[in-house]
Amino acid sequence: RGGLTVADLVVRYPGATAPAVDGVSLDVAPGSVVALLGPSGCGKSSLLRAVAGLEPLAAGSVCWDGTSVADVPVHRRGFGLMFQDGQLFAHRTVGGNVAYGLPARSGTRGRVAELLELVGLAGYEDRGIATLSGGERQRVALARALAPAPRLLLLDEPLSALDRALRERLAVDLRAALVATGTTAVFVTHDQDEAFAVADRVAVMSAGRLLQVDAPAELWVRP
Ligand code: ADP
Ligand code: ADP
Repeated sequence: RGGLTVADLVVRYPGATAPAVDGVSLDVAPGSVVALLGPSGCGKSSLLRAVAGLEPLAAGSVCWDGTSVADVPVHRRGFGLMFQDGQLFAHRTVGGNVAYGLPARSGTRGRVAELLELVGLAGYEDRGIATLSGGERQRVALARALAPAPRLLLLDEPLSALDRALRERLAVDLRAALVATGTTAVFVTHDQDEAFAVADRVAVMSAGRLLQVDAPAELWVRP
């Protein structure tokens, strides 16, 4: 089976009484977007970080296209990351930030322009990061994350620092960018509207476990 397969995953922090992730199984089909939805502290971030290879697995497995990623060095897995704070290089231009995500080769300028257009920032190449609004910064961060064409993009509350009106607009644009690029993605959020706007399927999480994984219209669990 293609895509991401998480099986019986457990994440445990030293000294904690209960595991942060307590036996989670989840499939993400190629080209689809799954939202991990649940309240603060339920283990969303721990699950995402374990998939990213940033937390050790206490048990279970993470596979891509049926092959365990455990033996592949983190930087060779082709997984991309985006966080709440886009962590842009403050002293580079917009174009410089996006180009950083590209492999060194010719055609960089055209590719940067393409990516900026994709996120609604056509013509922003030479702008300084300090001159951008919070929403524009997250658009740049998304363009940079998409630049290397990651086979899996992991997004940890990428819109949470923005106000509600902006979040709604960006959620729609973010989904459009993921769909246009055919990017497989896992999107962590505590906001149900955001999850519904972004994802094909929503995985509702509570106390380290998944309660339900379904299309937004099929969910019966109230997160
Ligand atoms: P969420 O992303 O849903 O807010 P987290 O995955 O961040 O949840 O946290 C799940 C649980 O694990 C919480 O109880 C949290 O306090 C704990 N936790 C998270 N990170 C660490 C860490 N580095 N060390 C110890 N405990 C942690
Ligand atoms: P927000 O309130 O969302 O952070 P801002 O008020 O900072 O937005 O910015 C609104 C618009 O003005 C944005 O398009 C932003 O790029 C632009 N802008 C803000 N500061 C500057 C600046 N110093 N130079 C050029 N453009 C700026």
